[in-house]
Amino acid sequence: MNRIHYTKPSITELEVSYATDAARNGWGEHCYEYIGRFEEGFRSHLGVRHAIATSSCTGALHMGLAALGVGPGDEVVLADTNWIASVAPVLHLGATPVLVDILVDSWCLDPVQVERAITPRTKAIIAVHLYGNLCAMDELLAIGERHGITVVEDAAEAIGSVLHGRRAGSMGRFGAFSFHGTKTLTTGEGGVFVTNDDELYEKVLTLSNHGRSRKQQKQFWPDEVGFKYKMSNVQAAIGCGQLERIGELIFRKREIMAYYRERLREFDGLHLNPEPEGTVIGAWMPTAVFAPETNVTRERLQEAFDAMNIDARVFFHPLSCLPMFEQRPENIHAWDIPGRAINLPSYHDMTEADLERVADVLDALCTRPGGGE
Ligand SMILES: *Cc1c(COP(=O)(O)O)cnc(C)c1O
Repeated sequence: MNRIHYTKPSITELEVSYATDAARNGWGEHCYEYIGRFEEGFRSHLGVRHAIATSSCTGALHMGLAALGVGPGDEVVLADTNWIASVAPVLHLGATPVLVDILVDSWCLDPVQVERAITPRTKAIIAVHLYGNLCAMDELLAIGERHGITVVEDAAEAIGSVLHGRRAGSMGRFGAFSFHGTKTLTTGEGGVFVTNDDELYEKVLTLSNHGRSRKQQKQFWPDEVGFKYKMSNVQAAIGCGQLERIGELIFRKREIMAYYRERLREFDGLHLNPEPEGTVIGAWMPTAVFAPETNVTRERLQEAFDAMNIDARVFFHPLSCLPMFEQRPENIHAWDIPGRAINLPSYHDMTEADLERVADVLDALCTRPGGGE
């Protein structure tokens, strides 16, 4: 039985030919050509004014938050349910993360909890579109407006997600994306910082160039201490190939999500990624959450998928259960949902037979939730 991986890039001759060209010719005066092309392409895909390619989403977030002036004494509100990458830059800047609970259906930031968590020290809210599901951006932006707090987006998982015509990552003060090998669009490792704010763009551009302003005439003259989170030209070349295929990459993710939805639609006790009216989700990570009364647990799910040689992954643990944070079990959903949830395989090249094998495992658990006695 072939192993079904949970995610894997979709690479064609196009990406290979661009990467080969970059490796052969992309040096000297050509060393930024694919980077420029990739930034321009991504900027226009998203419909934003500025894009800066980075070595990772973590780096993009780090620079964006630094440019906003986030530092010691500041609080940054984000969901307890998150990958560590979203919170690490907050800690690196010496600020304090405030981890709040998620909504039970979208698994993203609960706006009511966000507003409750606001103090005079709150500097920013990081809206992470978990698994490609959309945050309640209208509510979050309104809270930001009411309290004079910046809302930023970690849209690493949300390529292809659209809220009332606005793409994820284009709605906050800035957005950050990841092109890690597990993401919908990949450059191996990589990311991008995007914004509509001209001033913030200039700040991050300078920070991203070790603090050297592009207006600075003197050579080797940083005006401040910056960062070094750049994407290489070879990575950008792969990204240019991926960008030309972005419609197809998103379409296939959505097709896989639709397959699971259709196959599992009759089971009331099983909740998949929501796609509310007026939204489109990029469906980066199809995820199944079982209702408590089904008694289907994460352990039981892992066992069942392992037995079928399927690499299904656990739902993110709450950050606040990790040793470096103060425990916040009062974040009920963030602490409860992972115990009865699983991420489903969703790479582009999955065959019909692969999809069927994944759905059959869930089907069996839904039909005989106790475990098959
Ligand atoms: C993948 C991911 C990141 C980290 O991206 P890197 O490019 O590995 O730094 C950050 N935030 C979210 C939500 C992610 O899914």
